[in-house]
Order: sequence, then structure tokens, then C-alpha cells
Amino acid sequence: MGLHVQKYGGTSVGSIERIFAVADRVLATQRAGHDVVVVVSAMAGETDRLLGLVKQVTDTPPAREQDVIVSTGEQVSVGLLSMAIQARGGKAVSLLGHQVKLYTDDAHSRARIKHIRPERVDEVLKKGAVAVIAGFQGIDEEGNITTLGRGGSDTSAVAMAAALGADACEIYTDVDGVYTTDPNVYAAARKLDRIAYDEMLELASLGAKVLQIRSVAFAKRHKVPLWVKSSFNDDPGTLVTGEDPSMEDQVVSGVAYDRKQAKIALRHVPDQPGIATKIFEPLSREGIVVDMIVQNVSLQDHTDVTFTVGRDDLRRATELVKEVAAGMGAGAVDTDENMAKVSIVGLGMRTHAGVAATMFGALASEGINIQMISTSEIKISAVIDEKYIELAVRTLHDAFQLHLPPTERA
Ligand code: ASP
Ligand code: MG
Repeated sequence: MGLHVQKYGGTSVGSIERIFAVADRVLATQRAGHDVVVVVSAMAGETDRLLGLVKQVTDTPPAREQDVIVSTGEQVSVGLLSMAIQARGGKAVSLLGHQVKLYTDDAHSRARIKHIRPERVDEVLKKGAVAVIAGFQGIDEEGNITTLGRGGSDTSAVAMAAALGADACEIYTDVDGVYTTDPNVYAAARKLDRIAYDEMLELASLGAKVLQIRSVAFAKRHKVPLWVKSSFNDDPGTLVTGEDPSMEDQVVSGVAYDRKQAKIALRHVPDQPGIATKIFEPLSREGIVVDMIVQNVSLQDHTDVTFTVGRDDLRRATELVKEVAAGMGAGAVDTDENMAKVSIVGLGMRTHAGVAATMFGALASEGINIQMISTSEIKISAVIDEKYIELAVRTLHDAFQLHLPPTERA
């Protein structure tokens, strides 16, 4: 007997038939003797449809009103799922963000959770009913509706699990779990039985889209064990959890990629204190996330600074950098929008030598040129031409034998 928080994503509640399938799974969990709290996303495609309506009205939507609109997708799915559970003979009560008192800051469309007062949830559970909670939404201190960013229902679920002291937090999606790489790019990808929070954080930030990155950070902070499972079968899925020493035996856990990168090179920059902040401060003020940064060794008191941004930010970033460049008497600003990033991630990199050499050797053997490199304790990333990205993913997957179970790798 325990408390299970189950989160169902958009495809898992994408049709009435799917909603009934979720109702059956929820009731089966309850029959097994557990209290069940369900967090749901909007039906597949609904959030995009709502954002499309917003766009037809204005290109510069007031953030508060946009949240009022996009949060409605979840209101529909909690109502439908509660009805479906009742139609199957069960008890269920739908609850919106304000009803579970999920308080956030006031950063509309990317709000952060501050605290939750889930008394209503306790009442519902005490009556033997399932609490069906709208993901993605909360309220700020003034009662305005806020949303948690795309994919935010994952974070709603983890936060509810932490607030309720749940025994399990299960994220149901349309894949069986977390894979060594994107199975759509390489069919040899293997499902991982478990992965450490830190590895998952790196994979999520590198473009493995299974979980919203904030949900993983939240789970790590509050020590919530997270299961990623498919709502379409009974596979046990992948457990995202705290580290244990045996996890370092595995050198590389996964290969991630991000296709939509762009590169900006600022030539002939005077090599003086304060230059880097002049270049990057305007970008940060505009909310543009800069990823990799490389500064060359300076020649005759001048240097080149090259960095990457998401492709969607390239135009704005280039404009800002051109202004800065003119102001400091720097040279040309060159851009390339067809960049991609491939990365290997694994706790074992801390204790195994030669990982970088293997990675670079494998890419070289396929004639793939590396344009930029960055590393962290458990990750190595290379920026390459986008047209080679799938080849790079497959090559690295083979080089680290990720198709084999960890114990069978050389
Ligand atoms: N419905 C929201 C979205 O599409 C939140 C979520 O599904 O997690 O991003
Ligand atoms: Mg999602």
C-alpha cells in the first residue's frame, strides 16, 4: 500500500479511446491497493493548437493572457479522464492548478514552482477517489494563472510526488523508457534499466526529449525516484535515480544530439579585460542561451571568439553581436546556421581514461570534422556540420558498444 503519482503525456491521452486505457491502468493501480494521484497533459497537439490561435491575434501576446489560454488544454483532459474513471465504475475528482494550490513565481510561460499546499488532494484520496490533476499550470501569489514551460507537466508530477511524499512517480509516455540514443536515428539503441539524475540532466539538456529538464532537477533535489514508462505496454521502463558506485562501471550511458544549432564567430576582437562580458551581456539580457564558447589564443593582441546558440535565436543574436562588434572595433561577424551537436554522457568518464580519444577517433574515421568541443565531468560534446549528425550518432553508439548490455562491453 503506497501512494503513486502517475503522469500521462499528450499522446497517452490523445483520444477518448486512449483516455479510457489510462482510466483502466489507474484503476488497476488502485485495485492493487495504492492511492493514486494522476497528473495529465493536454491531449496531443492541443497546446500547439492553442498557441496557434494566440498567434492569429498577435505576434506579441501578453504573457498573462497567453497562459490563460494555453492552460485550458489540461482542463479538458482532467475533466475527460475523471469522467472516464467514473464511467468505468471508479471514483475520481479533477483538480486544477489553483485547486491543488500549486504556487509559482510570476514568470508567465516559464514559471517556477515555489510551494504546493495539496490539502484538497488528501481529502480526495481519503474518500477513496483518484485525484486527477491538471499538469503544466499553477498560480502566482496574486492568483494569476501561470504555466511551467513546454513539457511542464513532468515537473508538475514530480513536484506533486515530492509534496505528497509519494512512494513512486511514474511518467507515462509513448516510448518504453530512456534509450542509449534516439531509436528513430539508430535502431540499435538499447533501453536503459536505470540512469542517474545527473546523466539524465545532461541527456535532457542535450536534446533527449523524454523528460522536461526541470522535472529531473526537481527529482534530484527532492530525491524522487522517477520511472519513465510507456502507457502502451507493460514494460518496466527506466528508473531515473540517485547514483550508486556501480554506475561508474559504465563509461558511456548514452549519445545525445541537437540538430538545431548555429555558430557565430566574431573575428579580430581586441584581447582586453571586459571584452567577453561586452559580447555576452546583451545576449543574456535578451534571454538568448549561449551554449559553447571558444576563444582562440591571441595574436598581436587580438583574438577570435566563436560560440553557438539555438538556431531559432541566430538572427537576433547576430544583430546584437554586430552592434557590439562595431562598438569595440572588432572585425567581421561570420555565422553558420547548419550546425549540430553530438554528445556522449556517462558517469564513468570520471574514472576512465581515453574516452575523448575514442570519441574523436571514431568521428575522424568517418571523415567527420569537429568544429568545436566542450566537456563537463560526465559529458563530451562536439559541434559538427548538421548533415553528418545521424552518422555521428551511429558511429559513437558503435564505438562505445552501446548496443550491448553494459556487462558485455569490452
Ligand atoms: N501541454 C503542455 C505542452 O504541450 C505541457 C505538457 O504536455 O507537459 O507542452
Ligand atoms: Mg512531455
